[in-house]
Amino acid sequence: MARTQVGIVGAGPAGLLLAHLLHRRGIDTAVIDNRPRAVIETIIRAGVLEQATVDLMHEIGVGDRLVREGAVHHGFVLRFAGASHRIDLTALTGGKYITVYPQHEVLKDLIAARLAAGLDVRFGVRNTSVHGLDGGRPSIRFTDADGQAQALECDIVAGCDGFHGICREAIPAAARTEYHRVYPFGWFGILAEAPPSSDELIYARHARGFALVSTRSPTLQRMYFQCPPDERPEAWSEARIWDELDARTQGAGFRVKHGPIVQRNVVAMRSFVCEPMRHGRLVLAGDAAHVVPPTGAKGLNLAAADAFVLARALAAYFADGSEALLDAYSATALRRVWRVQHFSWWMTSMLHRFDGTGAFDERRQLAELDLVTGTEPGRRLLAETYVGQPFG
Ligand SMILES: Cc1cc2nc3c(=O)[nH]c(=O)nc-3n(C[C@H](O)[C@H](O)[C@H](O)COP(=O)(O)OP(=O)(O)OC[C@H]3O[C@@H](n4cnc5c(N)ncnc54)[C@H](O)[C@@H]3O)c2cc1C
Repeated sequence: MARTQVGIVGAGPAGLLLAHLLHRRGIDTAVIDNRPRAVIETIIRAGVLEQATVDLMHEIGVGDRLVREGAVHHGFVLRFAGASHRIDLTALTGGKYITVYPQHEVLKDLIAARLAAGLDVRFGVRNTSVHGLDGGRPSIRFTDADGQAQALECDIVAGCDGFHGICREAIPAAARTEYHRVYPFGWFGILAEAPPSSDELIYARHARGFALVSTRSPTLQRMYFQCPPDERPEAWSEARIWDELDARTQGAGFRVKHGPIVQRNVVAMRSFVCEPMRHGRLVLAGDAAHVVPPTGAKGLNLAAADAFVLARALAAYFADGSEALLDAYSATALRRVWRVQHFSWWMTSMLHRFDGTGAFDERRQLAELDLVTGTEPGRRLLAETYVGQPFG
């Protein structure tokens, strides 16, 4: 049986960042993922990186392309009641900003660096299972891409396998508590070949529902609008999609720039937390333990924060057997998780149309938006939370 110190299930942001951070501390890791590398490197997801996530990429030596190709944003725009309100992130936070750099580009950088260092990462595995977490010898079993059965003995198993992974389920139901909120809508996302419509992200609240205008590159734009959770993207013509985006965003001289739509999908909206994030020799990180709706742009950043806290705890454990930080991992990570849950729920509740809640709720939303754009404390709270706090 092969052996490693930390066996990592999942080569998403949580798993790969953790693997790099542990490698830098001289800890041996192996990473497995059930998706092929080509799929991992092309699926479009998050794109907003907090400063702390960017700093982490630099710390592990993979920040160069991000600096060259990422776009620094010093603010974003909230649009409601026909007017735009800029949130000046840098002025309100004493110099902080966010960087727009797509998640799959982050993953390309992390995978390339791991392979260049000759470290173990296996894609396209099947039948993953985890064993011996409660005191036996922990191990991960899987079928590799060549169809060979493999077993990996580990000191610690890190479940970084996302919301639909298998690691969370390995914690006995009686030993975990799960908190769910499923929103009664989804996000219809498009990727369009067009020039940017705006230098900064635009979050729009409209009576027809939420819309987000974001950018990927000088020629490729990502936009979203609120839709029913079971919407079928292929049922929409391009003209209907642009009409909907125009209706929710245009006015006061602004109109999104149209172009051929090259990708479309519907994203589910949920809030989820599993407590605790450690059980015996198993630790959870990222979406395996918590999911936020994308409105606050926090999912990837939260996965990075988990990896940071967990790497520090595992470094202490492997240095001298001290379990104090490992024991504290779940509570430390969950404190940030719940704050971010609050922020993501708040942004979602402030900007989306909730059918059946009536005119009162609409007026309340507008009052809340007025508070966060029209007062200094409101703007500051929004800006500070959006750019994020340091991980350590
Ligand atoms: C469609 C979509 C759109 C999103 N958009 C945004 C956004 O705009 N902004 C934002 O901040 N966040 C967004 N998110 C959330 C963000 O992408 C996630 O929070 C982030 O990917 C979490 O990273 P992770 O490493 O924890 O999990 P993941 O990225 O899900 O990675 C988990 C990995 O584990 C692997 N895996 C799963 N099961 C197994 C198994 N049994 N064996 C081996 N490997 C396994 C998976 O293949 C995957 O590669 C979006 C998420 C989705 C699904």
